[in-house]
Amino acid sequence: MAPKNKKFVFGLKVDRQLDGDKMNREFLDKVLAEGGEGAAIAACMQCGTCSGGCTNIDLMDMSPRTLVLMVQRGEWEKILKSNALWMCTSCQICTSRCPRGVRPADVIEAVKAIAIREGIENDSTRFNQIFVELVQKRGILFEPELMQKYGGLPALIEQAELGVKLALKGKMSPLPAKIKDPKKFSAALEKAGKK
Ligand code: SF4
Ligand code: SF4
Repeated sequence: MAPKNKKFVFGLKVDRQLDGDKMNREFLDKVLAEGGEGAAIAACMQCGTCSGGCTNIDLMDMSPRTLVLMVQRGEWEKILKSNALWMCTSCQICTSRCPRGVRPADVIEAVKAIAIREGIENDSTRFNQIFVELVQKRGILFEPELMQKYGGLPALIEQAELGVKLALKGKMSPLPAKIKDPKKFSAALEKAGKK
């Protein structure tokens, strides 16, 4: 094992070592079962190409490269503490660029699903929950309602100017829109819920 105060060993950054002996098969299997089957997690060679192309890397405290490594090692606590799960926009750039066929975006989705099932709560999960509830209610999102439910009156006031501009340009309806067939939509939701 590399000394703790050494950042590089034989030219390799310590946290880039694959450490096959540290691979946590149990956690890896959990992520694979959650939908990461095709994600080829074990094939990651820690080249960092995914992080280099990540569109939201500036906002993440853990890069996709490191996140894949943490999944390989089963460092669940570190993953949960990271905001990377919630900052990922699922743009798939990392996946399209990986030279080893690893799918970091799928890994993140799978880990996120496990985290939510295990009851993690933060601003992002609350936002997602409100978003889903509102879409279930109307079949279509009414942005001012989302803003009000998530951030209360202060958020609504803060975004009012932008909202008016968007409405004037026809980019956002000032009133809730209606979908054509709410019954069909509810039936589709119910069917999806059963699956
Ligand atoms: S680009 Fe692929 S192989 Fe390279 S670090 Fe990212 S996931 Fe691993
Ligand atoms: S899918 Fe997520 S991790 Fe991958 S490049 Fe996009 S934002 Fe970054």
